Amino acid sequence: MKHILKCPKCSKYTMGNECTVCKVPAIDLKPPKYSPEDKYGKYRREVKEESRKEKDLI
Ligand SMILES: [Zn+2]
Repeated sequence: MKHILKCPKCSKYTMGNECTVCKVPAIDLKPPKYSPEDKYGKYRREVKEESRKEKDLI
């Protein structure tokens, strides 16, 4: 199954191996920096906490 790739130059999504506009290789959408799931989970919890505080303030 093919997955969507993204052009690093114009940030357009493409199903092909390269951007049809820029003719540069498209990159995978998988986030390269947030691989540790624990770290990402912590970040998501913080965001949730933050939005809860905002609700309390309203
Ligand atoms: Zn492009």
